Amino acid sequence: MKLVFATNNLNKLAEVQKMLPNSIELLSLKDISCFDDIEETATTLEGNAKIKANYITQKYKLNCFADDTGLEVNSLNGAPGVYSARYSGEPSNAENNMQKLLTELKNKDDRSAQFRTSICLNLNGEQYLFNGICKGEILKHKQGEKGFGYDPIFQPDDFEKSFAQMTSEEKNKISHRGLAIQDLVNFLKDKS
Ligand code: IMP
Repeated sequence: MKLVFATNNLNKLAEVQKMLPNSIELLSLKDISCFDDIEETATTLEGNAKIKANYITQKYKLNCFADDTGLEVNSLNGAPGVYSARYSGEPSNAENNMQKLLTELKNKDDRSAQFRTSICLNLNGEQYLFNGICKGEILKHKQGEKGFGYDPIFQPDDFEKSFAQMTSEEKNKISHRGLAIQDLVNFLKDKS
């Protein structure tokens, strides 16, 4: 079975392909010659994942899944959430996003937060949603050099280091995206 992952991030694609049985051939947007700018206009992560998956399924008549991730900070009522990539404005800039978040949290005692990944799968005319959550807290200062986005200031619960101090294997085992993808993969294995 051919299945489109609505992404151009080849690292994400390879990571998921490794977890899938050989009977499922994963295709990127480039593989199906889709170079359209799919606008993420929804106000929820689920909404944006649906927009992307539905766009591909409707235009190309293919089974497809798409993901969207956000960092939800409790004392900021869930912000930056669906706006995580462009929290400090566009174009997206990880350094500015982190600085803005650290400033917003300066006088807050509660620094608890969670990363959440939502995946929308369109498979043979049915739609399925998967979620992965990683709870933790926002550190006061950046720690570590690895990863991307908010990794240097996010410390997952039960760990004494930030995401940016973990290897990708360590992070994938506990991360929001890793957990959501694992759920998706288990579901697809049952179907194939
Ligand atoms: P996307 O939906 O995977 O593109 O994620 C949206 C934004 O959330 C990214 O631009 C990052 O700012 C942030 N983000 C998503 N996943 C992670 C992560 O694993 N670590 C740190 N930041 C992340």
